[in-house]
Amino acid sequence: MPSIYIVPAWHIEKYSLEFLKVRIEEVFRKKTIIYEDKKINLEAIYSPSRKQYNSSQFLIQLLNNHPKDAFRILGVTDVDLFIPILTFVFGEAQLNGLAGVVSVHRLNNKFYGLPENEELLRKRLIKEAIHELGHTYGLVHCTTPGCVMNSSTYVEDIDRKSEFFCSSCISFIRR
Ligand SMILES: [Zn+2]
Ligand SMILES: [Zn+2]
Repeated sequence: MPSIYIVPAWHIEKYSLEFLKVRIEEVFRKKTIIYEDKKINLEAIYSPSRKQYNSSQFLIQLLNNHPKDAFRILGVTDVDLFIPILTFVFGEAQLNGLAGVVSVHRLNNKFYGLPENEELLRKRLIKEAIHELGHTYGLVHCTTPGCVMNSSTYVEDIDRKSEFFCSSCISFIRR
């Protein structure tokens, strides 16, 4: 059955992604599976000069090796992701494609020297995961206040938006 695969790729931290699976299943109405892809190799995408991990190469690894019935693939990692033109990214996705990735690295209060907040971290991860999957459905950034497809440069931007699509974005997803 065509399914959304969540592929965890942990380096140091390990998080249970059961809550994310449940949420993604509700929003996208597709069977969602947490899938361990043994071929994901984070060391291979590490940039020693930047001390960060190349998010586009992470996408390529996910695309090179995935279950045949994958409807969408979402890589979730704890390493700091970048694309060459940006200082960092929270995530990246193929527009109208199969795969997206998201990192919890800069979603964690700890990164900003603030007390850890598990609930806030989960909320942020849900928003960013839904956002990247929205891109794989062909959605571009949306300026409707609160829509999950609002672009986010800083973690404060993520906190300002909701985890929901606006009416126009959700009807795009549902059609
Ligand atoms: Zn985006
Ligand atoms: Zn929208």
